[in-house]
Amino acid sequence: MTDARATGVLKQVKERLREVIIGPKYDLLIEPLEIESITGNRVTLVGGGQKQVEWLQEEFGSRLNEAFSAALGELVEVVVKPSEVIPDQSSPLDPFTSLGALAATARGQARPLLNPRFTFENFVVGPSNQFCYSAAKAVAERPGFAYNPLFVYADVGLGKTHILHSIGHRTLELHPEYRVIFVTSEKFTSDFIEKVRTGRMNEFHQRYRQCDLLLIDDIQFIAGKVETQMEFFHTFMSLVDAGKQIVVTADLPPQELKNIEARLLSRFGSGLLVDIGPPEAETRLAILQKKAELEGRKVAPEILAFVAENVRSNIRELEGALIRLLAFSDFSGAKLTIEAARRVLADFVKGQSGYRYISMEQIIDAVCEVFRVDHNLLMGRDRRKKVADARMIAMYLGRKRTNLTLAQIGEEVGGRDHSTVSHGVTKIAQAMDEDPYLQQMVQRVIRKLF
Ligand code: ADP
Ligand code: MG
Repeated sequence: MTDARATGVLKQVKERLREVIIGPKYDLLIEPLEIESITGNRVTLVGGGQKQVEWLQEEFGSRLNEAFSAALGELVEVVVKPSEVIPDQSSPLDPFTSLGALAATARGQARPLLNPRFTFENFVVGPSNQFCYSAAKAVAERPGFAYNPLFVYADVGLGKTHILHSIGHRTLELHPEYRVIFVTSEKFTSDFIEKVRTGRMNEFHQRYRQCDLLLIDDIQFIAGKVETQMEFFHTFMSLVDAGKQIVVTADLPPQELKNIEARLLSRFGSGLLVDIGPPEAETRLAILQKKAELEGRKVAPEILAFVAENVRSNIRELEGALIRLLAFSDFSGAKLTIEAARRVLADFVKGQSGYRYISMEQIIDAVCEVFRVDHNLLMGRDRRKKVADARMIAMYLGRKRTNLTLAQIGEEVGGRDHSTVSHGVTKIAQAMDEDPYLQQMVQRVIRKLF
């Protein structure tokens, strides 16, 4: 593609996005973007620092994909890279830096990576999550006093990570001098392995044992990792002994977590256990209203009601459905009617109300086709990334689109146990949040199925 054509495409995309992304977000995230290359169906953009790029991918990743796909007339994947010169992240002008984090930076501490959108203010409260919300607020306001640990469990997409970040934000607002760490159990594990390998365990201890609030996400991924669990146990005990707060999330309650040391599970159980259930109709509607408001969009109440009625599984999908509708109306220019919504959300709607029964076999076939993976490899023990990913995507879709239990899904995907399936489902849900390309591929499988 010529430079002139690329420039034209970029201009067109920016013009479109300017209409839908309001004010400062546009100036901050979209305006600086430049095209680095367009090869095959991959568009590589550069612009902004690491933080901007993360925010951009998270909030507008799918929109960028749609905008470029529309401008180029074919389905493309957009990748954004930070510009070479990374702006000083601790500069007071950095809009991502909360006051507390600034204070922490001033003392030379690393800031926790908290998503600016995941706050208590943006968390819609309803009967399904009221208890969790109250407990989380109590903990955030007086870390180390209320319940220790606070253990939050819920199925994917119901708000665990959101709650965890909210606690971090609130604690830092109230106690700017506190050291807050947010980490997934996988990051904790890789950090541990890395420090052992390089003989820097001191650093590791300093980091994790000298914080005021440790937020650890998706603890189930620590399963089977014996040394890491031992290290985590000691981290845990030393924090609790020092009166520091720990908040843990998982996809299951402690007694159902497999391959995690009993003494660790019993500590988890000794704090406060709270779960988040699937949102009720009213909460779903309220979440959609909030989301539309955050996006700066006006959507007719009957459209929101239609989405709330039809997308019931989890909040991530609920938000995804709304985003898809908004993108549709932006790029088609058509008015959003219930009819249009029904068409755009066909796969969500059908999948949920069970118009059509989808079997695991059909899911596996579709995944193999879209990801070009051999059926036997997927069912077997092959651990290459491509095969393992495809297998986990099949599990994810099984969970989302059939009524089978985790154990039944495992049975159908080459005889795996329920914790393997649960692991795969969460892993893909997480990866989809970060990877618009994966999202698109999964959508492609879904379209094949319905
Ligand atoms: P989990 O970690 O449990 O898989 P997340 O915390 O990532 O789920 O939530 C998925 C999406 O749903 C996020 O975009 C989050 O902001 C949103 N969300 C979850 N719960 C709520 C809520 N109660 N109100 C508003 N948004 C929510
Ligand atoms: Mg999460």
